[in-house]
Amino acid sequence: TNGRVPLIAGNWKLNLDHLQSIAFVQKLAWSLKDARLDFNDVEVAVFPPYTDLRSVQTLISADKLSLKFGAQDLSEHDSGAYTGEISGQFLRALDCSYVIIGHSERRTLHNETDAVVAAKTAAALRHGLVPVICVGETAEDLETHGPSAVPVSQLKVALATVPQGADIVVAYEPVWAIGSGQAATPEQAEQVCAALRAVVAEKIGQDAADKTRVLYGGSVKSGNIAGFMRQPNVDGALVGGASLDITEFSNIARFQ
Ligand code: PEP
Repeated sequence: TNGRVPLIAGNWKLNLDHLQSIAFVQKLAWSLKDARLDFNDVEVAVFPPYTDLRSVQTLISADKLSLKFGAQDLSEHDSGAYTGEISGQFLRALDCSYVIIGHSERRTLHNETDAVVAAKTAAALRHGLVPVICVGETAEDLETHGPSAVPVSQLKVALATVPQGADIVVAYEPVWAIGSGQAATPEQAEQVCAALRAVVAEKIGQDAADKTRVLYGGSVKSGNIAGFMRQPNVDGALVGGASLDITEFSNIARFQ
């Protein structure tokens, strides 16, 4: 990981209400403490539903926990007549560090295009949030275009108007690996993550590429995390299902 602090990110999706989120984060913090996790060596972040964010913020701040948190999406707009939307300034006001953008479920179920992903990335950066930009190919894309073509083209659009040196995270999440139990191999992940880092260099500069965490996501478990973490261009994981199991997620954060 070349000096980059790995990031283990837990995407809760539509799970855990605000009361459950408090109990969960408390137990997770205990589990990481028991494991003597050193937060200088790894960053751990949770991504709860919007309605949990205030509770999670309050708990983390009251207990001085080293956990980071963020939202699963944001609006490309800052305010106005956009019923149901949540803006970057609201998320920043709740101390969110990160926001996931362009998750494959948003792209598929909510028709988010690369242009929308680019607009949301700009909105996140405008409000001091670090965007976790998700890209990844379907099984069909993989067969037709090979391993890197689709994620590379998605990231090029997302970064088209991003300023040089911006603080971003990229997550390579092959759609065929998400929630399928069929993770990519560490070698497959490395190949695409290296190609994505090259896109970051081309679009926002070599310094940014050197410091950007590129994550792998898709059926990451405690049993397969170590292989991914050994790859030079994989700087952590975006974890879905296994992030809802405290022991599993805590073991993933220890890379075991
Ligand atoms: C995800 O949805 O971001 C994800 C990686 O899910 P899972 O870990 O369950 O495959």
